[in-house]
Parts: sequence; structure tokens; C-alpha cells
Amino acid sequence: MARASVVIVGAGISGLSAAWELSSTSPGPDEIVPRIEIIEAADHVGGALVTTQFAGRTIDLGADGFLSRRPEVVQLARELGVEHELEAIDASGAWIFLRGALNELPAGLVLGVPTSARAFDGVKGLSASARRHLRRDAWFPKRLHVGDDASIGEIVRTKFGREVSYQFIEPMIGGIQAGRIDELSARSVFPALLEAAKNGGSLMKALRSTSPINPEPAHEHETTTPMFSTLRDGVGSLPTTLARELKARGVVIRTGVSVSALRRTPSGNYPWEIDTSDTTTPADVVIMATPANVTGRLLGAHDDALRALEDVPLASAAMVTFSMAQDQITLPPRGTGVLVPLGTTWSGDGSMMVTAITFLDRKWPHLSEPGRVLLRAHVGRSDDERATALSDSDLIERVTKELGVLLGNFGLTRASLVQRWPSSLPQYRVGHELLVERARRAASSLHVALAGMAYDGIGIPASVGSGRRAARETAAMLDHTTR
Ligand SMILES: Cc1cc2nc3c(=O)[nH]c(=O)nc-3n(C[C@H](O)[C@H](O)[C@H](O)COP(=O)(O)OP(=O)(O)OC[C@H]3O[C@@H](n4cnc5c(N)ncnc54)[C@H](O)[C@@H]3O)c2cc1C
Repeated sequence: MARASVVIVGAGISGLSAAWELSSTSPGPDEIVPRIEIIEAADHVGGALVTTQFAGRTIDLGADGFLSRRPEVVQLARELGVEHELEAIDASGAWIFLRGALNELPAGLVLGVPTSARAFDGVKGLSASARRHLRRDAWFPKRLHVGDDASIGEIVRTKFGREVSYQFIEPMIGGIQAGRIDELSARSVFPALLEAAKNGGSLMKALRSTSPINPEPAHEHETTTPMFSTLRDGVGSLPTTLARELKARGVVIRTGVSVSALRRTPSGNYPWEIDTSDTTTPADVVIMATPANVTGRLLGAHDDALRALEDVPLASAAMVTFSMAQDQITLPPRGTGVLVPLGTTWSGDGSMMVTAITFLDRKWPHLSEPGRVLLRAHVGRSDDERATALSDSDLIERVTKELGVLLGNFGLTRASLVQRWPSSLPQYRVGHELLVERARRAASSLHVALAGMAYDGIGIPASVGSGRRAARETAAMLDHTTR
């Protein structure tokens, strides 16, 4: 019997995790381990996880940390033997720019959604009417009729009013997704919010007991688990380690080669042939770990449910990282960064482009150096592509001016670096879960598994989980393969 063959398209963390899971399963006595080949268009593995040298330090250019209260990445690090390289976040809390000043975020937020009206008493940047809305949810909650899905905006606007929703909740939730609360699906992005809205009553009270990120540890050992972590050499070191270990297991990894077509070959030995510009690889099962639009383009001809993946909107983001002397900048006394509500006006052209600032060396102490500050400004949203039109130097100039307003003092920088992430963040709009369910069903009938940040959530843990899930689906498909 010919050896089974699996091709994984895309060597981001989801594709690599799929290969890891698939190559971890020990074969039965009469079984032969499948041949696994990963094909990656970029000249490096990791996709959105990549590091570089900047101002004498190794920093991440994309994702820089992960939610370690979720088990996926910690478990993977353990399996790879790099658990000792995990670094816990060293700061907590953050600030929000409201009415021209920094306000400290109150405690008890669940993904930016308040769980106590009283906690907001100290937030000076919110109007008295916004505070009244919060108290009303506690005492006389508004009724809301929601079906199987609703936008996060619809829920929080009804319950808390526009000011709290757009000035407070959107910068938090929208910041993770680079999207707008009026478009993001509650069912996909924040299922606990949808459930709470369906059940009626006070949203704040309901969320106090059901947090999606579980701030109340269920087990005693979790009290010592940090909320966020990174790796000493950056989360970008994770795919590099994974690729090295996969090669040691015999997995073939080809970088700098783009998959140009997938062809069905029902009369051949293998049901699929995967083309690059100069090779064709046969496969029993294909794992598509590419961005949704690429998967939709490559597989759309086979099924409309797969073609629909091309329509998942993608937001672009850019990040500008600065290194500077400590006496050139004034930072708030504590916290990991600052959020900036969309549409924040200032003396410059249009609304602000900066959506958030991250104090990198406060978050990750291994990056700190005496007398120096390392910080990063984030720009770009699903409907804000202004950064795309600016050259790197114009973007740095613009961001520098905005940081001066946001922080009050932002002087001479020693080094700056622009990293762009064009069309990189999938938008989970209302109805997304259904779209994914249909696409998965169609893919499965073709012996294709889907993995990546467009399906099971944005974030490294979700992407690792997504890759492992695709591998388990693949193993089940291989079990039913007769050649
Ligand atoms: C700017 C940014 C910041 C983020 N910050 C965080 C964070 O701080 N914490 C966190 O947990 N998560 C963060 N995320 C999310 C996290 O990075 C993702 O969930 C995760 O990296 C997605 O991995 P993936 O494998 O699904 O996709 P990707 O990393 O996008 O990998 C897809 C791969 O497919 C390849 N590919 C595309 N087309 C082809 C083709 N035709 N042939 C072959 N290969 C192809 C691409 O080159 C790419 O390598 C961030 C994401 C972005 C974009």
C-alpha cells in the first residue's frame, strides 16, 4: 500500500501546530506514518509570528504575547521542551485617552465590558450621563431581543448607551480584532455576552459570573498562572523551534514557494494534487492553513461555501516601535499601555490614527534596559486604511505627533521601526460562525481540513488549537481512505 500523504498549505502557527499534532500520533502495528509536507509562500515560517533585532534587543514584529490562562501555547511549549523560556507579563492595568487626558481603566472589565457601575466612579473622562447608563443596567436593565447572533455593538449600545460603548468598550474589543463593535459578531467573538443578553436582566451582573477568559481561577494552581506570557526570544521563536522539531520528525517544510492551485484527481492514486510554480505534490488530505481569502480563492471552484471564505473581510494594521531615552518621554505611573477610542479628535489632520500604545519593556521585563524606553504604537482598523497611503517616514512623523498629544511629552527618539500587516486580521462579522460551519462541512467532504485565525478565534492559543483540530480531522479522514 502506498504511503498516505498530507499536504499543509501555510506554515503560520496553525499549519505548524497541525503538523505537530499529526506527527505526534504513534501509528498502530500495521500502519505507516503519513508523509507530511508543509508549503509556505514566505521565505520564513511563522506567518504573523516573527522576530527581529531592534535597538539591541530581539523583539516581535507581529503578535508579542499570548493569553496563558488558555492552555494551548503553554502545552505546546512544554511538548517542545521550551517551557523554561516562557516569560510572564510583569505589569497590569492600562489607560484610556478620554476628553484629552489619560484615565486609568477600572478593575473588573471583561473584554472591556464593565461588570460594576461603581468601578467607573473614578473615570473622569466619562460624562455623568454615561455613568447613569451603567447604573441603569444594574438596577433597571433594558430589555433586548437577540436571536442566534447579534453585533456586539447592538448589545452594549442598548444596555450601556453610546458613550460607554464607543469610548470604552470598542477600543478594548475592537483593539484585539481591529474591527468595529457594530460589525463584530457576539456569537463568535464574545459568546458569553450573547448568552447574557439572551437571558435578560443586568448584563454586568451576568458577566460577573461568566468570564470568557476566566479571571476567577477554577483550580488553585491557576492562581499562579499569569494572564499573559511571551517567550524570552519572542513568540516568533515558537514557530522556529517547532519547524526544527518537525524536520527532525521527517516533516518536509518548503519555504518561499506559493501554492498556486489544488486539483482533484479522482482517477489517480491520490485524490488531490497540489501545484506550486515548479512542483506537484499528491495528497490524500490537504490542510489549508492559509488566510481565509487565499483558501477561498484556491478552493472556491469546488464549492460555494468555500468560495464564501473569500468574502471574510480583512483589516490591515501597522505598528511603529520606538526606542528612546527615558528623559525624553513621560509615561503614566503604571500599566501596560494606552487605548485610544476611534474618532478621537486632535489638533492635527482628521481623527487620530493611533489606536493603542504598548509599553513593551514594562510588559516584558527581559526587554527593559536602564535609562531606555521601548514602546509601540498601533494604527489601522477594518475601516481605517490611512496608514497604507503613508510612506514609513510620514507614518513615523504622524505617529510621533499623536504620541506627543497622548502622552504629553514625547521627545527625541533613538530608533524607530515600521512593521505593516496588510489585510491580515479576519473580521468575525455577524453570521461568521455559520459561514465557518458551512465551509468546514464542504471542506470535509472534499478531504480538506481548515485551520487558522479565520475559524476558531484570533490569537495564538486559538490558532494552535485550530491547527491541532485540523490534524485530528485529518487523521479521521485518513482512517477512511482506501486507495
Ligand atoms: C498584527 C498582528 C498582531 C497580533 N497580535 C497578537 C497578540 O499579541 N497575541 C495573540 O495571541 N495573537 C495576536 N495576533 C493573532 C495571531 O498572530 C494569529 O492568531 C496567529 O498568528 C495566526 O496564525 P495562522 O497560522 O492562522 O495565520 P498566519 O500567521 O497568517 O499564517 C498563514 C500562512 O499562510 C501563508 N500563505 C498564504 N498564502 C499562501 C500560499 N498560496 N501558499 C503557501 N502559503 C501561503 C502565509 O505566508 C502565512 O505564513 C496578532 C495578529 C496580527 C496580524
